[in-house]
Amino acid sequence: MDCLFCKIAAGEIPSTKLYEDGTLLAFYDIEPQAPLHFLVIPKQHIDSAAALTEQDASLLGHIYAVIARLCAEQGCENGYRVVTNVGRDGGQSVGHLHFHVLAKRSLAWPPG
Ligand code: 5GP
Ligand code: ZN
Repeated sequence: MDCLFCKIAAGEIPSTKLYEDGTLLAFYDIEPQAPLHFLVIPKQHIDSAAALTEQDASLLGHIYAVIARLCAEQGCENGYRVVTNVGRDGGQSVGHLHFHVLAKRSLAWPPG
């Protein structure tokens, strides 16, 4: 499948990694929108959050636990935001499920 994040997960396209295990990869966003901005992706291809089912419960728990650990390690004691964009109106530009983690500045609400 011609998927940018599958290629990053496979190491075919380089990325700056924060963390990797058998099921997921965390790497810095190439166009950061905050002083700390990384992405967490499952290595397995999933189109978006719209394709998730109850079968993905343990994967999602693992993703959020890793995000919490990485944010603690990165000193995000003031908080952070986790965002997953879905589809055109949601602003999704890469069709492989990914969670943005943004931190180290005060983030506006509501998002644009
Ligand atoms: P989306 O717009 O789908 O929610 O998020 C896709 C994100 O992937 C964007 O923030 C974009 O900057 C990032 N991105 C796109 N291509 C690459 C790449 O080749 N490497 C990295 N590290 N990030 C990328
Ligand atoms: Zn993919």
